[in-house]
Amino acid sequence: MKEEICDVLVIGTGFAGLSAAYVAANRGLEVFVLEKMGTPGGNSRISDGGIAAPNTDLQKKNGIEDSPALMAEDMLKAGKGRNDSALVNIVAQNAKDVFTWTRETLGVEYEDRVDLFGGHSAPRSYAPKGTLSGRPLLQGLLKRLKRNNVRFFYKTYVQAFVQDERKRVVGVEALYPYHFTKEVETSKIFFRARKGVALCSGGFGADKTLKTSLDAKLQNISTTNKPSSTGELLKAAQKIGAKLQDMDCIQLAPWASPDENGMGAGPLFGDYIVLPYGIVVDRKTGKRFTDELADRDTVAQAILDRKEPTIGIADDQAVKRDGLSLEKALKKQVVRAFDSVETLAKHYNVDYGSLAKTIEITNQGIKNGKDAFKKSLSKRATPIEVAPFYAMRMWPKVHHTMGGLAIDTKARVLDKQNTPIEGLFAAGEAAAGVHGAGRLGSCAITDCLVMGRVAGKNASL
Ligand SMILES: Cc1cc2nc3c(=O)[nH]c(=O)nc-3n(C[C@H](O)[C@H](O)[C@H](O)COP(=O)(O)OP(=O)(O)OC[C@H]3O[C@@H](n4cnc5c(N)ncnc54)[C@H](O)[C@@H]3O)c2cc1C
Repeated sequence: MKEEICDVLVIGTGFAGLSAAYVAANRGLEVFVLEKMGTPGGNSRISDGGIAAPNTDLQKKNGIEDSPALMAEDMLKAGKGRNDSALVNIVAQNAKDVFTWTRETLGVEYEDRVDLFGGHSAPRSYAPKGTLSGRPLLQGLLKRLKRNNVRFFYKTYVQAFVQDERKRVVGVEALYPYHFTKEVETSKIFFRARKGVALCSGGFGADKTLKTSLDAKLQNISTTNKPSSTGELLKAAQKIGAKLQDMDCIQLAPWASPDENGMGAGPLFGDYIVLPYGIVVDRKTGKRFTDELADRDTVAQAILDRKEPTIGIADDQAVKRDGLSLEKALKKQVVRAFDSVETLAKHYNVDYGSLAKTIEITNQGIKNGKDAFKKSLSKRATPIEVAPFYAMRMWPKVHHTMGGLAIDTKARVLDKQNTPIEGLFAAGEAAAGVHGAGRLGSCAITDCLVMGRVAGKNASL
């Protein structure tokens, strides 16, 4: 078998893997990054690029009070106590640092506003300037890594971990050239790491067999993830004794549309416009049924309980508020525009009288600052009253897998006795513990950057 040798081996070209590689390369080490696909980025590439951080200059400019302790408290609440509080504190305390790193070192520019997502008790999410995408951050990382002579091996499918006689992980066995959609002839390569292996292979949101074995109701629920988000390396790590935890914690995104595949164009409307500034109604009753800004699990479950897609509605003021373009979603007819609430009601077969009443009650709540569902209204929320009125059918999709490898605060992968497996580190969506039972919006990227750097540092020692 062919052998390639480096100091630090990183698996995965998402934000966690590239952050790990960055730190290891900055220490002057020889770093290899392995990726099964032909292009870099995994889910990180198709993400919105939204990152959460407390105590930032943008918050101060907007008069927002926040702190790492408050962010940690919100994450623990959403995680329903299943998070590892030591990991949560590391992420919250280093969030501002990594946000600054993305701006000052990696060259990412952000919009001037601070977004409020469900489950956060203060606006603390930042969107990349001009594009809701992970690409600016991905490009920033790749550029720096190439400058530091990090070597990338694409179409390289890692299938097993290799241990020495003391059970230390010394490398991996991979197949090359791998092709995701077709069978091709491959040969085996042994990648040896003189120091450590950082496993940053992402989540398993698109792994139908694995996710339905954990939760049968997911059989007919699609996903926002890239098809390559599969869990083979969690199983490979399990084979060498690694502990998996919280595997049943699979997050459904409430703001997706059943009228398109994958993430699609609708979430921009659902997540950034409907949930903070609009309403979601039950098609059968024309009534709201949840605080749209509750955490994702709560809202997704409330939608599933309706047994059929619900309708997300916002008016023209809400759509124009943050300058987001609905062009793509309107063109795909995932989001539709109506000149009156009546025509909207007719299109979706909702009782007009009931919907008009719901909007009237909601508008009263916005004017009085008191929402019937105790929604934490943004200071920028305005009554739903200016045509055109926009709407989208909303039905959850699998978005994030909180479970994965048990790690400690040094990102060392733990075995079933909670003893670190020497030589093996994990970060990002492949690791468990940071988000517990539920992840808050924008906190995954912060997690990937913070814990990816921790994994990179410790794999370099
Ligand atoms: C559509 C979408 C939008 C999102 N938007 C946001 C957002 O705005 N803010 C936020 O905080 N979070 C967001 N998330 C979540 C966040 O993007 C992910 O949790 C995060 O990017 C995961 O990064 P990662 O590095 O752990 O994994 P990934 O970015 O998925 O990278 C893992 C890489 O490992 C590779 N790999 C896997 N198995 C193997 C193998 N056997 N051999 C070799 N390589 C392998 C994969 O191909 C992949 O490239 C979003 C997620 C999605 C799906």
